[in-house]
Amino acid sequence: MPGPADTHTRPVADPAIAEVLAKWWGFDALRPLQADAIRAAIDGRDSLVVMPTGGGKSLCYQLPPLVSETTDVVISPLVALMKDQVDSLEAIGYPAAALHGALSQEERSQIRDQLAAGELRLLFVAPERLVNTGLLDQLAQLGVKRFAIDEAHCISQWGHDFRPEYRQLAMLRDRFPTASIHAFTATATPQVRNDIARQLSLRDPAVLVGTFDRPNLVYRVVPRTDRIAQTLQILGRHKGEASIVYCISRKETESLAARLAAEGLLARPYHAGLDAKERHKTQEAFARETIDVVVATVAFGMGIDRSDVRLVLHTSLPKSLEAYQQETGRAGRDGLAAECVLLYSSADMFSWESLVRKSAAESDLDQDEQEQLIGSQVAHLHAMRRYAQAARCRHAALSEYFGQSYEAESCGACDVCLGETESLPEATVIAQKIISCVARVQERFGVRHVSEVLRGAKTEGITRYGHDRLSTFGLLAQLDQRAVENLVHQLLDQELLARTGGDRPVVTLNERSWEVMRGQRSVVLLEPRGSKAKTTKADADDWQGVDRELFERLRSWRRRVAEARGKPAWTIFDDKALRSIAREKPTSPAALLRCRGIGEKRLADFGPAILDLVAGRTPADE
Ligand code: ADP
Ligand code: ZN
Repeated sequence: MPGPADTHTRPVADPAIAEVLAKWWGFDALRPLQADAIRAAIDGRDSLVVMPTGGGKSLCYQLPPLVSETTDVVISPLVALMKDQVDSLEAIGYPAAALHGALSQEERSQIRDQLAAGELRLLFVAPERLVNTGLLDQLAQLGVKRFAIDEAHCISQWGHDFRPEYRQLAMLRDRFPTASIHAFTATATPQVRNDIARQLSLRDPAVLVGTFDRPNLVYRVVPRTDRIAQTLQILGRHKGEASIVYCISRKETESLAARLAAEGLLARPYHAGLDAKERHKTQEAFARETIDVVVATVAFGMGIDRSDVRLVLHTSLPKSLEAYQQETGRAGRDGLAAECVLLYSSADMFSWESLVRKSAAESDLDQDEQEQLIGSQVAHLHAMRRYAQAARCRHAALSEYFGQSYEAESCGACDVCLGETESLPEATVIAQKIISCVARVQERFGVRHVSEVLRGAKTEGITRYGHDRLSTFGLLAQLDQRAVENLVHQLLDQELLARTGGDRPVVTLNERSWEVMRGQRSVVLLEPRGSKAKTTKADADDWQGVDRELFERLRSWRRRVAEARGKPAWTIFDDKALRSIAREKPTSPAALLRCRGIGEKRLADFGPAILDLVAGRTPADE
């Protein structure tokens, strides 16, 4: 039974490219933009390729040097990402190496020798390495014809990740006037795009912009009522699968990871405050599939590239849709169905806003610049909040934010289109109760106190102010504290209530509150318990015809191989390849070669073991 098609791939017209693709990668098709990007590279035409995470950028610079038999150079900002790529290239027998600061003198000169002998097809280099060493001379001597700049938005200060060392790449055009330059990024704004082209002096570049929609991702936004309980519930849908849980603070990542571990999950925290060794250990354990869950801070750019992440869970609000797109982009990079859940509470908006103001005040920017910075960051926050609150298709909302229209009526892959968002009956009446309570306490108290009054709690504060004598006392006694606070936050989100700034924010009324009170405005509130996630079509399709038992056996075999080789598991095989095998159940090397992701090198290395596993035997080499 054939598996689901890879996202919009097409057969390859050029036989030389098709051959290389099948022989080395075991792929039989290219995504449309990949085909164009590869064409440009082979023709030596500059290009600017904009593709979302998981779009398949790396193939665009990995494949051309095999066809043209050249040594190409890739500039990449993160050592961890370079290493991962070199590892996964090694798994297919592809000659590549990475030059970075963490190498010993000996390793470095070994790479220089390989380079001189023309043995490498790709050389990965950190930008600061490229400009500070005699490397440039060597590359010039070798006659390097092609440079790929990964994460090219790092060159622009309009981008979200400006790196001053990228600025020096402007010299490539002068030093290598006959070489072509190929810039790759996932950041789409036209301003950043133009800046990249200008700074790198691209000549009539082929500008190739991909679709930002990720059809295999299911997006859900769930009102946050109980961080830990909800996290456990959502992780329960992904037992034994790779998951990333994002938190805002380091402390949160540690306490949540400890809590998950206590529940028997294989979870570890990951943040910039841990020492390098600890971080490295966690990263490796995740890559080799000995842990399933990483609980990380959003502030930290993880060098984690595992392609079979099935869940990205945000327990707090990300600070922009750009950040959200990037972080959720780490899910389902293998093209298989994956879930992205955002636990949303407007309380996060207020924490972020005060954080933004605080860090601007502590910076050495002048007053005007501070105001500008705050303005732009707050605008990003509001875009994020609007996304979370809107009761409309998430795929459509994200696409449109990134400047692309989304045609489909229903995506079939978000909480809104799946009809999962449950609204509360009698929401207008409940809203009126809450608003009148805010009026009764004279707009002088915060969310917690207002909620306690509504619940009829006997706190010290309530007794002191005599709020137990108010007519609104205990009006929502049937709900628990978290649920009531959540409803108050939903009203704040919809601007049906207002809130003051400062350290002790107070809930106040606005014009819209009075409209609700007068019955001139009806209110929709979501069930604070959250709702049940349904199975999506994409997920069902991805499992179509797959023998799950065999798939799990293949996975544990992959884990053992990864452990023995000291390599990330996904570089050995990705999930899509394993599912393809567990679907086709090949009984001969020829049949195995037809499975997705099996090229000649993998067939030679693992063919016998896989055929044994499919036949239900223990592989001979174990
Ligand atoms: P990016 O660098 O844009 O984030 P990657 O290059 O890591 O994306 O590719 C994402 C995933 O898509 C990888 O698992 C890769 O193996 C797979 N992939 C890329 N191109 C193809 C293709 N033409 N056919 C099948 N799978 C592909
Ligand atoms: Zn939708």
